[in-house]
Amino acid sequence: MPRDPRFDVLFEPVKIGPVTAPNRFYQVPHCTGMGYRRPQSLAGLRGVKAEGGWGTVCTEYCSIHPSSDDEPYPSASLWDDGDVSALALTVDKIHAHGALAGVELWHGGASSANHYSREVPIGPASSPAGVWDPVQTRAMDKADIRELKRWHLEAARRAQRAGFDIVYVYACHWYLLRQFLMPSNQRKDEYGGSLENRARLLRELIEETKEAVGDTCAVAVRFSASSGGPDDDQDTTEPRAMLELLSDLPDLWDITVHDYSYEMGTSRFVPEAGLEATMSWVKTVTDKPVVSVGRFTSPETMLRLVRQGVIDLIGAARPSIADPFLPQKIAEGRDDEIRECIGCNICYTGDQTGTPIRCTQNPTMGEEWRKGWHPERIAAKGSDASILVVGGGPAGLEAAVWLGKRGYDVTLAEARTELGGRVTLESALSGLIQWGRVRDWRLNQLAKLRNVEFYLDSVVDEAQILEFGADRVVLATGARWRRDGVGRWHEEPIPGWDGPSVVTPDDIMAGMMPIGPVVVYDDDHYYMGGVIAETLRRAGLDVSLVTPANEASTWTTHTEEQYRIQERILTLGIDLETGTSLASVAEDSVTLECIYTGRTREVEAKNVVMTTSRTPQDALYHALADRIEIQRIGDCLAPGTIATSVYAGHRYAREMDAAVPLGVPFRRE
Ligand code: ADP
Ligand code: SF4
Repeated sequence: MPRDPRFDVLFEPVKIGPVTAPNRFYQVPHCTGMGYRRPQSLAGLRGVKAEGGWGTVCTEYCSIHPSSDDEPYPSASLWDDGDVSALALTVDKIHAHGALAGVELWHGGASSANHYSREVPIGPASSPAGVWDPVQTRAMDKADIRELKRWHLEAARRAQRAGFDIVYVYACHWYLLRQFLMPSNQRKDEYGGSLENRARLLRELIEETKEAVGDTCAVAVRFSASSGGPDDDQDTTEPRAMLELLSDLPDLWDITVHDYSYEMGTSRFVPEAGLEATMSWVKTVTDKPVVSVGRFTSPETMLRLVRQGVIDLIGAARPSIADPFLPQKIAEGRDDEIRECIGCNICYTGDQTGTPIRCTQNPTMGEEWRKGWHPERIAAKGSDASILVVGGGPAGLEAAVWLGKRGYDVTLAEARTELGGRVTLESALSGLIQWGRVRDWRLNQLAKLRNVEFYLDSVVDEAQILEFGADRVVLATGARWRRDGVGRWHEEPIPGWDGPSVVTPDDIMAGMMPIGPVVVYDDDHYYMGGVIAETLRRAGLDVSLVTPANEASTWTTHTEEQYRIQERILTLGIDLETGTSLASVAEDSVTLECIYTGRTREVEAKNVVMTTSRTPQDALYHALADRIEIQRIGDCLAPGTIATSVYAGHRYAREMDAAVPLGVPFRRE
């Protein structure tokens, strides 16, 4: 289907200083957990984005000097010429598809504890460095400022030699230039105090970078449109005054907001185009092109923002991760095939754990080079085997879709009357509605595949599987939450667990409403405990959230939402008991135990929601493993995230009849 001509505007070229972006689709800098450690993987990933139609593709933050190292989070680097050849791999892959390549030059200042380089951190003043690290910065003197500018220029020249088209001056988030811009910078020299003074270093870096590389490279500035305040009423006064001061100096403004957990907020907390209200003034004070993000997946939203003069370029990190071919799909009038980002931030957990990026919606993300996986292409089938997939959750759906695309005859049986498994159930919980997109994209694909049949309301048992006689059977039957409280803290069942007051998240998702006061016991530590507590509180119950961890939903620090989750829990009036385990359950009460002192106390609880760990639903496997060719994937093999299940389903489909290397199943750098 040809594209709607209304969207032609999205495919117009945009001049950015000395270079021209071929269209308005702009992959802003985003971390990948690869950085300087995995240059081939990085090049593969960025190249696929360019292939998918992103007219500009940028790197992650790229350190200019060893005094700015973010280990254990892997940034890119341009410290010396060795880095030039490594990053040139990325540039070449991007250029091969006609896109522009951008590099985000970065100095962390006080945000870098320099665990790797062991250089003394620097900043505008002597201040705590890193996150909670017990080190401080050295206050930069004038000679340090001169050195910083030299490092920046040398890195810019290296970037130019690597072939980059856009070089960033990175002046936001919590890094060095922002530390200079903030009112807390009260240096006594011309780089602190007044607004003009605080903006001086940024001005000089823009001017000097332009002078050094501006003949071939555009100079972009990443800048925050706000300096604080609540999400829907952010303070833009100072940033506006600064932007007016620098207005047409750079070739491009890349605009963010002060709070990272809002800028890249999960869909539980931040809607699409969430930055618009804060940054829509930017184009009124500059004639230079403006790019900004907003988890854009709707072409209508993109069009509106361009038409209304809010942005010139559609900035995207996550939408380009979930679907590297998003621009091409819009270009070809296939918008319905866009694999829409669900806003879960699993992609960010790669960087946060120092490991390569992964994505819930796009299981090929991060696997482009090391496994040769492509988000849109897959090899044709390797045999005429017929395949029965049991279970239509994310693992089963993903397997069925890609087996179908390979040309296999696939039958999928699902016990419930709806497909989607845990995604369908969980997306009905408070704030998780967009997670349903995992199901929706796959249902849309299934509808186009004539060789995949699915049956709802079909609980498959051992006899039926044997009778059906498929050549291969894959079980994607999921997992159930444990009722007995065994998890990370308790290795044995909690006394009283089998009483009538104990329920699980599965019961709640099946429609059971507890009576309060209710204790949600969270020894799982991802989102479920917090979401169940929130859902029950919103239903009017008196709720306590009890966890042995020292904060609510502690693993969500990796998805950049822990702070928001805890804030919401406290604001909703949920009683939060951290550092506390559930010692025992009685009919109308529970005994809580401090994990440090062992002190116990009894609290009233008519119901307890046990959110600790899950049991794989693998009975069919054990009944049939010796008799037929059968495999388990996803939660029924080992309960994990939705991303794990999608990946497992995808891997099963890719590896069917394929030559999979023995030993290490992927290429290493
Ligand atoms: P995963 O994340 O591994 O995909 P889910 O729990 O989301 O796991 O999905 C598992 C799906 O399998 C659920 O929709 C469930 O109804 C279905 N299922 C479980 N057992 C059977 C069975 N015996 N026959 C058919 N479907 C089943
Ligand atoms: Fe979007 Fe989640 Fe994929 Fe990140 S991991 S791109 S948030 S779907």
